[in-house]
Amino acid sequence: MTSERADVVVVGAGPAGSLAARFSALGGARTILLDRRPELGHPVQCGEFVPSARELADIFASPDLFDGTFDLPAEAIQRETRTMACIAPSGRRYEFPLEGVSVARRAFDKALAYRAEGAGAELRNPAGVVRVRDGTVELATGGRIEARVVIGADGPVSVVARSAGVQLPRQMYRMITASAPGAFAPRLDLFFGSVAPGGYAWSIPKLDGANVGLGAFGPSDGRSLDALLDAFVASQGWDGAVDRTRWWVPIGAPPVTAVAGRSLLTGDAANLVMATNGAGIPTAMISGRDAGTIAALHVRDGTPLRAYDPLWKRHLFGPLRRGHRVKRAADPVARSDPLLELGMRYIGATGLDDVMRLRWPARLGGAN
Ligand SMILES: Cc1cc2nc3c(=O)[nH]c(=O)nc-3n(C[C@H](O)[C@H](O)[C@H](O)COP(=O)(O)OP(=O)(O)OC[C@H]3O[C@@H](n4cnc5c(N)ncnc54)[C@H](O)[C@@H]3O)c2cc1C
Repeated sequence: MTSERADVVVVGAGPAGSLAARFSALGGARTILLDRRPELGHPVQCGEFVPSARELADIFASPDLFDGTFDLPAEAIQRETRTMACIAPSGRRYEFPLEGVSVARRAFDKALAYRAEGAGAELRNPAGVVRVRDGTVELATGGRIEARVVIGADGPVSVVARSAGVQLPRQMYRMITASAPGAFAPRLDLFFGSVAPGGYAWSIPKLDGANVGLGAFGPSDGRSLDALLDAFVASQGWDGAVDRTRWWVPIGAPPVTAVAGRSLLTGDAANLVMATNGAGIPTAMISGRDAGTIAALHVRDGTPLRAYDPLWKRHLFGPLRRGHRVKRAADPVARSDPLLELGMRYIGATGLDDVMRLRWPARLGGAN
């Protein structure tokens, strides 16, 4: 059995892993970035929407975050959007401004991984990890890498978290995503109600058509995700939805700690997702950057790995915890179309804007 050594091994080359590897390598650590996929970013398991850095600065209110972390790779950007609409079960629309872009994850994930390589990290794929034991990363091929730090950036079904005995409380939302051909307006549409029981459906404009899909949790009258998507696409009069994939979004409170022994957990592996809308790309990038920074400091001067917790918490904890509370409060309403209709009418576009930004709706008062 072959065995080698590295300062930092990052498991998973999604947005969290590539940012982690980039900042770890920039900090001088010998960094290996592993991903089990033969092609990074493919198949696409994402709606592919990223808010602008200005919107993220408003949501996360951490000025030190916006120093280049969100320079999105130009080759991955597809369409700009300026508006979001939340659509009630009756079809009534509530619109508010939200700047962002749609990206092609197939290009986005590769570009972020190449930036990590450019900073000095060594990218290896396909390279699946089957287990991590006290800093020893065991590969599907039978090889091993001894690492001083392991960064778990391996998504919602994380081998690194499981190996470290970490079980975060969460609800796993079932999601389906697909491509719909046609001409779509430059805005993000979210559809609520029985179209996507307990969750929502979306259309996000792309260069050639739209990314369409939905996420559901709880009762869906025995309907499969595909059946729900067929009904959604038909209700909008679109010309089908192809290239379907299914995956999970972990919705839960942010963890008390994302450090377990020599492992640091990031992105979906640590539940770091915006609970009210299931968005996890920006939080993956932020937590990845923070984990890579601390891993490199640990290698360089012995900074304790637990320094990762206060760093990611300063950037993410407050808004993510608030978003989780808002989501929990809204869940009973989201299970009934008439209640949802009334609730959306009561809080209006301003309140829905608040919810998407992880804030209590202004109309319900207090608690932010
Ligand atoms: C259908 C759907 C739509 C979504 N839409 C949006 C959206 O529009 N905007 C948004 O911000 N968020 C969205 N999300 C959430 C977003 O996709 C995730 O939060 C984000 O990708 C998390 O990044 P990550 O780097 O933590 O994990 P991932 O992007 O999941 O990357 C994990 C990587 O780890 C690799 N990996 C996994 N296990 C192993 C292993 N054992 N060994 C080696 N490699 C491994 C995988 O191959 C993968 O490349 C959506 C999610 C879904 C499912």
